[in-house]
Amino acid sequence: MPRWAEFAAALDAVSRTASKREKVALLAGYLRRLPEEALRIACTYLTGRVLPAGDPDKLQIGWAAVVEVLQDLSGASDREVSELYLRRGDLGDVAAELVARRRTVPLFREPLTLEGAHERLRRAATVRGKGAAAARVAALRVLLEQAQPMEAKYLVRVLTGDLRIGLKEGLLEEAVAEAFDAPPAAVRRADLLCSDLGEVACLARRGELGTASLRYFRPFRFMLAGNLSDPAEALGGAAREVLAEDKYDGVRVQVHRHGSRVALYSRTLDDVTASFPELEDPLLRLAPAYIADGELVAWVGDRAAPFSRLQQRLRRLDPLAVAADVPVALFLFDLLKLEGEDLLDLPLRERRRRLEALAFGGSVRLAAAERVGDTRSLQEAFRAARGRGNEGLVVKRLDAPYQPGRRGRLWLKWKEPFGTLDVVVVGAEYGHGKRAGVLSDYTFAVWDGDRLRVVGKAYSGLADAEIAELTQFFLQHTVRDLGRFKVVEPRVVLEVAFDAVSRSDRHDSGYALRFPRILRVRTDKTPQQASTLEEVEALYRRQRQPEDLT
Ligand code: AMP
Repeated sequence: MPRWAEFAAALDAVSRTASKREKVALLAGYLRRLPEEALRIACTYLTGRVLPAGDPDKLQIGWAAVVEVLQDLSGASDREVSELYLRRGDLGDVAAELVARRRTVPLFREPLTLEGAHERLRRAATVRGKGAAAARVAALRVLLEQAQPMEAKYLVRVLTGDLRIGLKEGLLEEAVAEAFDAPPAAVRRADLLCSDLGEVACLARRGELGTASLRYFRPFRFMLAGNLSDPAEALGGAAREVLAEDKYDGVRVQVHRHGSRVALYSRTLDDVTASFPELEDPLLRLAPAYIADGELVAWVGDRAAPFSRLQQRLRRLDPLAVAADVPVALFLFDLLKLEGEDLLDLPLRERRRRLEALAFGGSVRLAAAERVGDTRSLQEAFRAARGRGNEGLVVKRLDAPYQPGRRGRLWLKWKEPFGTLDVVVVGAEYGHGKRAGVLSDYTFAVWDGDRLRVVGKAYSGLADAEIAELTQFFLQHTVRDLGRFKVVEPRVVLEVAFDAVSRSDRHDSGYALRFPRILRVRTDKTPQQASTLEEVEALYRRQRQPEDLT
């Protein structure tokens, strides 16, 4: 059986090279040699999880438990542990050092194997209730008693979910592809469908990636929306019909229903079913077997209530106790699997048709949506959504497939900016990538009496031609040249939108605009006509009110 020591050595080799190609090659070489079960385990561990996403068992072995066991084995004091941690900055390294100082070494040491270690952890993860924490600590103790320092280092890193070998998920997929001579795109797609790299690696080895499909109670990543900067863009210039859906302000959930079981998964793919027991019945009635996507909101008096109300539900240990105070409604807007058929590749138009045919009832509702084909109707839909108390719209292409894990332009979110201000540019900086040669990042300010005070920095929203023109202008009106950054004469006024105002000591105004984006250059305004710090302060105060009212 594959040794844990080899797994640790492979990870260590990967961490020691800075070259991505070499990391992938090293890992591929290691994975290729593993038999099926070990391959499955190693790949899951490589994603920073002991159990695949959506597994009903959870292995929570926190920092405190790891430290407790290490102290017990080595006799290290609290102080020693903290000093060691401060010096090394990583609990895995601390584990390696303390395991080397173990007071008693077992007489007979069986080498740790991937399967053996996993079996022990998996069994500990199934223990529920009172004995759960003790079972996990006991399992960890047995493993750390057996482990060599290097083995302990990677065991602890796996358990704390951070391998620190410089391999992002994309590279892991590449390594699996390289190990089994599979096309990287096929590995990626299978991984998006299964959310379980262990399973994907096994399929790749058998040459069966094509059979990967959505599975019940295996949550996968959500499709996300890009930002809509201009309503006309949503319609693709020419009149194209799109689906304008209400944008609900709550939490995103993926619903899986099969047999008598219903599960709700959050965006982080965690199982949040237990927080919303009242949804089980209506979800069971919806259809016998399906996977759907939607947004869960606090629902008071036939309207969505602010997100802060919903948070009260998420935090509670006894969800039914607050269910009456904070009722919820689940708005479904997509259907991804129905019975045995995956629907991801069907156009939204068709998925929506099938969703509408389900048996909605109780607090499970169909998201409000309307087909629109011109800018005016889109604007009306936006106003109507706001009138219903929702944030705005998510505008979706009717011909679009569902792309798990992607934030593209097929879905565009349009919410009312919290506010807009006219600001004066006081600094300009060279951008990155295709904006490397132009001054595209602007530091801007508002008036405090006759002084300008900085409130933020923005680098999105303007067209290339405008940026080119501004670059010329700023180069001619540079007051101090600090290399990449130019202090410029306060002559250009921009209209910026943002989501919130926060207190900040980063800028001399004491405030910072959150997520500022440039709407346009206000050539019609002189710098003297720009906004003032009083306006910023008023916006800051205004945004606190809704919170205070709930
Ligand atoms: P934001 O959180 O502002 O980036 O907006 C994206 C989020 O809007 C998504 O992740 C969903 O949780 C949420 N949302 C609300 N209504 C919809 C909808 N009809 N379609 C897609 N996402 C929605």
